[in-house]
Amino acid sequence: MRARAVSLRKAQPSRTLVAVPMPADAESPPASTRRADWVHRLPKAEVHLHLEGCVPLNAVALDDPARAGVTFDPDTGVPQFRDLAEFLAFLDHSCALVTDGTQVEHIAYEIARRAATSGVGHADVIFNPTHWPEWQADLDGFVERLDRGFEAGEADHGVTVALCLSLSRTQRAADSAALVDWLLAARPDRVVALSVDGNEAAAGRTGPRFAPLFARARSAGLHTCAHAGESSGPEGVRDAIEILHVERVDHGIRAVEDPALVAKLAAEAVPLDVCPTSNVRLGVVASLAAHPVEQLRTAGVRVSLNTDDPLLFGTSVASEYAQCAQTFGWDRSVLGAIARVSIESSFATQDRRRELLSDLDDYLGLAR
Ligand SMILES: [Zn+2]
Repeated sequence: MRARAVSLRKAQPSRTLVAVPMPADAESPPASTRRADWVHRLPKAEVHLHLEGCVPLNAVALDDPARAGVTFDPDTGVPQFRDLAEFLAFLDHSCALVTDGTQVEHIAYEIARRAATSGVGHADVIFNPTHWPEWQADLDGFVERLDRGFEAGEADHGVTVALCLSLSRTQRAADSAALVDWLLAARPDRVVALSVDGNEAAAGRTGPRFAPLFARARSAGLHTCAHAGESSGPEGVRDAIEILHVERVDHGIRAVEDPALVAKLAAEAVPLDVCPTSNVRLGVVASLAAHPVEQLRTAGVRVSLNTDDPLLFGTSVASEYAQCAQTFGWDRSVLGAIARVSIESSFATQDRRRELLSDLDDYLGLAR
């Protein structure tokens, strides 16, 4: 069935992606070091990855760099963002360029291919229809195309992918409700979770507004997660777990400002999907060395490492692991524990999680 029309804003005129090859992957393994190779092969999952951050950048840049509203690093081709607001505006520009189903399939396939190069066996991919004007009135068609790309990617690269439908913190309540109505009526197999993202600094505290929608999703057997503690402070993280009752918190790092909340996250084993490079690039933290992931981890909070938007930040999962290991002096047991959290907190099927945990145990040389 066709999706109920979700009119969030006027669709931009159709434009065509320029068909050019992808640039060399940022995640090509630096095979010169044994540790880098070990990190690449470490079995893991990625649980915080946006479809919007996987639109080929070269197409965006070639289409109309000025209209993209950002400058691109001349050496790496990676866009430069001043803050989250500028970043979110860029997503509206780049995703509006995706007007054809074959482009959607290609983006999905590439997610699975890139995942494999980082040792990722399963990915939870968040998609937010507010960024995709060409597809807002045909979410069934959008998910079908994604499904085809993911299926082909799994066949070729052995990576499973689940989708999380994300609401936007700043969208109208009626539009959020329409998206949940669609999800619960259509129930595509590929979509296993409800999420919410967007700029909390602009939206304010929206927990009570989204709570009934999350309750409906939970009753229908869907997983739940929410962005919080990135553009909001610890109060956003508290709202996500106490009002939305999510299973995982996307980012959640500003929980570190509230010691009682850190203790609660640790005691209740709430996983945080941390994205270090993203936080540095969007100015949430000053540097990787200043990132609170280590403080949270040593306080007993379950953390995983993720890219958020790999093509926009020029990063990969393996690179996040390697950079954190170097910055915080993590050894293999710490990296293995983080990989374990990533798999255990993923929305992969129980069988798939078991399979990946078994791969991880074998890799770490543990008896089962
Ligand atoms: Zn995110």
